Amino acid sequence: MSLRTVAAFAIFFASASPSSALDEAGRGSVVRVGRFYLQSNAWVNLHQRLIQEAKFGVSSPSSLTGDDLKEWKSAVAAYDQFIGQRGPLDEELALLNAALSETSGDTLSASIPSAAAGILRGIMPLYERTQWKEDDAVNRFWMSVEKPLLESAEVELAAAHARAYGTFPSRIRVDVSVHAGEFGAYSVGEGDFAHVVISSTHPLYRGFLGLEMLSHEASHAVADSAETAVIGAELAQAERELGIKPRRNLWHALLFYTSGELTRRALAARGVADYLRVIDRRWSGPFRGFKEPLETHWQAFLDGKLSRADAVKKIVEETSK
Ligand SMILES: [Zn+2]
Repeated sequence: MSLRTVAAFAIFFASASPSSALDEAGRGSVVRVGRFYLQSNAWVNLHQRLIQEAKFGVSSPSSLTGDDLKEWKSAVAAYDQFIGQRGPLDEELALLNAALSETSGDTLSASIPSAAAGILRGIMPLYERTQWKEDDAVNRFWMSVEKPLLESAEVELAAAHARAYGTFPSRIRVDVSVHAGEFGAYSVGEGDFAHVVISSTHPLYRGFLGLEMLSHEASHAVADSAETAVIGAELAQAERELGIKPRRNLWHALLFYTSGELTRRALAARGVADYLRVIDRRWSGPFRGFKEPLETHWQAFLDGKLSRADAVKKIVEETSK
């Protein structure tokens, strides 16, 4: 994310004091736990639904038939044109989603591109009449499952992540949405603030996995592949010292391992002895070859027996063979 976007985000959310306006407008609900602000918001859900159908081939809502379905499909086609080839981290789309996240009534912010605003405004009445109540109920259920988990563990998890990364966001805004992009979640924001969009229907984000992935997504604000970020800095240092280019997705595997392991520990302390971390489901997929080096060196780092830089260096060395 560019500096300009980060600045825009900071301005956008600095004055934001999310209230129960969503409830009053009948357009969703809010759950607050510590640093987490979770909400089910109709505008965000509509935006994400249109993208999911335009770009990732999900079906139109089954509640739609006849003229309603025709109207919906033409909105999807128009949104497809507006989005073009862009992903959710595109600057304009990130700011658009942020603006929708702040909207509870009927009035859309003037910052929203007029092409998108026209489509969203035009189709919202149909969405509200046919599908929103169902989507909102699904989101509310997801939040009702995650709320007690966060109430029990978020302070402990944030402290553990701050120990690993040196820092962790103190404000985490979470839009809970039936769809949330290609992978079921994504996040923008940087430093102290993270804005997460997370799916209430994707199997990877349910129950205990949701607890892990909320931390994982928030971690993107402080740790990533950029040389200026935690982990990115150690990877760049290892590359300079060893003359070895780290594998492309190693930084992301380290994020998965960290949130997975810290969540496993938190759950084990609460009597859940058999939690299977997200990364444990991916060793034979995109993270092939990472298992032993991470379970040895990154585990040693998380156990306080090895520095972050030394752990990264050993892992880069062993995963490049
Ligand atoms: Zn991630």
